[in-house]
Amino acid sequence: MSSDQIVIVGAGHGGVQLAASLREEGFAEKIILLGDEKDLPYQRPPLSKAFLKRATAEDGVLLRGHGFYPQNKIALVLGERAIEIDRAQRRLRLASGARLEFSKLVLATGGIQRPLPIEGATLDGVLSLRTLAEARVLRERLEASQNIVVIGAGFIGLEFAATAAAQGRKVDVVELADRPMARAVTAETSAFFTAAHKALGVTLNFRTSVTAIRGSAGKVSEVVLTDGRVLPADLVLVGIGLKPSDELALAAGIDCPNGIKVDERLATSDGNIFAIGDSVFHYNTHGGAELRLESVQNATDQARTLAKLLVGKPARYDAVPWFWSDQADLKLQIAGFLDESDKIVLRGSYEERAYSLFGFKAGKLTGVESVNKAGDHMLARRLLGESIPITPALVADPSSDLKALLRGAR
Ligand SMILES: Cc1cc2nc3c(=O)[nH]c(=O)nc-3n(C[C@H](O)[C@H](O)[C@H](O)COP(=O)(O)OP(=O)(O)OC[C@H]3O[C@@H](n4cnc5c(N)ncnc54)[C@H](O)[C@@H]3O)c2cc1C
Repeated sequence: MSSDQIVIVGAGHGGVQLAASLREEGFAEKIILLGDEKDLPYQRPPLSKAFLKRATAEDGVLLRGHGFYPQNKIALVLGERAIEIDRAQRRLRLASGARLEFSKLVLATGGIQRPLPIEGATLDGVLSLRTLAEARVLRERLEASQNIVVIGAGFIGLEFAATAAAQGRKVDVVELADRPMARAVTAETSAFFTAAHKALGVTLNFRTSVTAIRGSAGKVSEVVLTDGRVLPADLVLVGIGLKPSDELALAAGIDCPNGIKVDERLATSDGNIFAIGDSVFHYNTHGGAELRLESVQNATDQARTLAKLLVGKPARYDAVPWFWSDQADLKLQIAGFLDESDKIVLRGSYEERAYSLFGFKAGKLTGVESVNKAGDHMLARRLLGESIPITPALVADPSSDLKALLRGAR
């Protein structure tokens, strides 16, 4: 083993960015990037967007081209799962029986779609969407189906529902909460998207759950709801949230209260083992709390920060969280957090389908939700990142030039 060999488990958004950033930061020792999927590492967001609509080819979703890994001396090992960490020996055991030694280990393991614990959940035609392999199946089945039930009105479920409705399918979304994307957006934006999906022809069923999925000859045929209704279905997409992949860390005795806990250096409770991305429970300076984030921004910014730290440069993870979701012709973008806001100010117009909601807490901007207002989103990221003061009155005045605040900050 070379003295500083770094092993990264998980070749997704975080793992690939970390390997790339380590080289950019001048790390010259061996990097092993291990992933249990067989496909060359790819981007997940297009799976529920352009890829689903056949608006991009498979090559178009790759995170890096084929030549990137050998050119950067990154040993990419695909289709191989890490199953045990021996912390004392600093050794990783793989499903194939092979062992890998490490001086530093990084867990970039992401998560899996939370399984649905009900009768019929394993019938043919009951699908989930996390991987490219699953997206290939979903896309084909979508094209061959008529009656679709989506379980869960989160981002993935709604992106899929919008595409399926646009392709002329009958789509029902079943959601336990009383509004869509309830964990992530304001009640105002939930109401806006509820109306938008209705206009697309999607039927949203709130405060409703599923008691069973039934089939014939092993294939899904209908979904039974808690209110007794039975929906015909030849395709069911389950999108009820993510379960962080922390089982390797847990089994090794690493602290995992809700995903893998890391400190401000992205180190776990073992100082030689680090973690980044969806599986990570961290204190977020913008959220003012310990939490997990499920976004490309979080995975890649944590990777960039960790690369610096691993080569001995000063760095701290305090990036402004941001996220996006495309549903039909609506681009939703979120910067920061609005869930604790005591004042929400509208800029733009719901009728014109272009608005932003600025959330304030005790007079301080905490987050901005934008729909078809990319300029506001970019502005919000700078305002939040550089703590540039802004008042609710200024936001509420449609004639005010908010960009002038950035010029003033230079
Ligand atoms: C359909 C879809 C649409 C999305 N849309 C958006 C969007 O619009 N905007 C946005 O910001 N985010 C979006 N996301 C979320 C975003 O993709 C994730 O936040 C991001 O992928 C997290 O990166 P990660 O590196 O933590 O995990 P991942 O990218 O999931 O990578 C983790 C990898 O580790 C592998 N792995 C796990 N355990 C092991 C093991 N023991 N051994 C080997 N390999 C292992 C996994 O199989 C996986 O390949 C979307 C996600 C999905 C699924």
